[in-house]
Amino acid sequence: MLKAKAQKYYKITAYGCQMNEHDAEVLAGQLQEQNYLPTDDEATADLIILITCAVREHAEQRVYGKIGELYRLKQENPNLILAVGGCMSQQMEVAKKMKQRFPYLDIIFGTHNLVNFPELLRAASDGQETVLEILDKEGSLVEQLPRVRQDGLKAWTTIMYGCNNFCTYCIVPYVRGRERSRQPASILAEIEDLVSRGYQEVTLLGQNVNSYGKDLHDDYDFAALLRAVNDTGINRIRFMTSHPKDISPRLITAMAECENVMEHLHLPVQSGSSRILQSMNRRYTRERYLELVREIRTAIPDIALTTDIIVGFPGETEQDFEDTLSLMEAVRYDAAFTFAYSPRGGTPAAKMLEQVADAVSKERLQRLNELQARISMERNQELISSEQQILVEGPSKNDPSRLTGRTRGNKLVHFVGSEHLIGKIVRVRITQAQTWNLLGELI
Ligand code: SF4
Repeated sequence: MLKAKAQKYYKITAYGCQMNEHDAEVLAGQLQEQNYLPTDDEATADLIILITCAVREHAEQRVYGKIGELYRLKQENPNLILAVGGCMSQQMEVAKKMKQRFPYLDIIFGTHNLVNFPELLRAASDGQETVLEILDKEGSLVEQLPRVRQDGLKAWTTIMYGCNNFCTYCIVPYVRGRERSRQPASILAEIEDLVSRGYQEVTLLGQNVNSYGKDLHDDYDFAALLRAVNDTGINRIRFMTSHPKDISPRLITAMAECENVMEHLHLPVQSGSSRILQSMNRRYTRERYLELVREIRTAIPDIALTTDIIVGFPGETEQDFEDTLSLMEAVRYDAAFTFAYSPRGGTPAAKMLEQVADAVSKERLQRLNELQARISMERNQELISSEQQILVEGPSKNDPSRLTGRTRGNKLVHFVGSEHLIGKIVRVRITQAQTWNLLGELI
């Protein structure tokens, strides 16, 4: 049993991607059922959970720094429970290292055992030793876990877990397991519940949403799910992430036909060189990717496209990098998330010879970012004088006298308007373009 105390407080910090944010919501839901309440103040928390990311070394270093920092709180309050979960601790060798280096951690848990967290918490409250539980295999999906959502306007709904693709630089298939799709009925019930509670927007999440349903019976695929979500009446539907090799003509048609599916697609290309794409095990070529972009733009002409790109992948020559620059010019993305390659232990790319020197990667990253900034600005300028539908999210962070919200294409727009518009969808005319956002006026 948990020690009796009238009220306990928890603080969860999630690093990395939306899957971790989702896991944080699930953990919060379980904790609130255990009479815990959230707090932003670590000093008053009875339980602090870090949900870690293993994708980049920088994120790992931040986590180690943070665990080190928490030692002081643990000394001041020996009853404080410190827990570390997520993709770093899913790797058994990393988890063991953490246990050794930070013996004051109470719980180390992986990505497959969120559902057991209350039991781990009980064990940690009763014992002295670090409770370490890392499940090797993903269990069957547990539906209907209670969740606490952060925002009353936009929600994430995970539709599938894991990934089967084994891109050579990526740790996800090792730490999140194979692809498992949630049942459509359960996803739809969750979204209907969101609609009934006034949510305006849902983002369907998975490492590779385009292969949703491949593990389900009766030919139900992502296109079918998208149409069914559209029928729930939720006003805005987004999804991520899409692997280019799995985008089907059926999906493009569904996107074009469903009124509430937003005109935005995040389509990670990673490199513009077919040779590097092969070495990354991406299973498409530069030519196929460009053809796909043409097919998508033919069906949905005003779609906004964003991407992820890695520079300095092992073996990347100047010519390969220039292929990436020319692909960026050819596609004219609205925005790109760009990264310098950093090797992840346990992935095939980390063992590849011909690692690119850091200085070279950094210089390439800078050239790539400069090019994207120019293109983003040009794409935004094309929107001047256009009329956009904006979901109003709240006061602008930089200028509280303005409101802020996103277009259907996911662009941030600031405009003057009264607070009663927050949570509504309004029409705005774009008056000015900046590189990463737009200014407009209410119509
Ligand atoms: S598609 Fe590739 S990069 Fe994305 S999660 Fe799967 S293995 Fe990682």
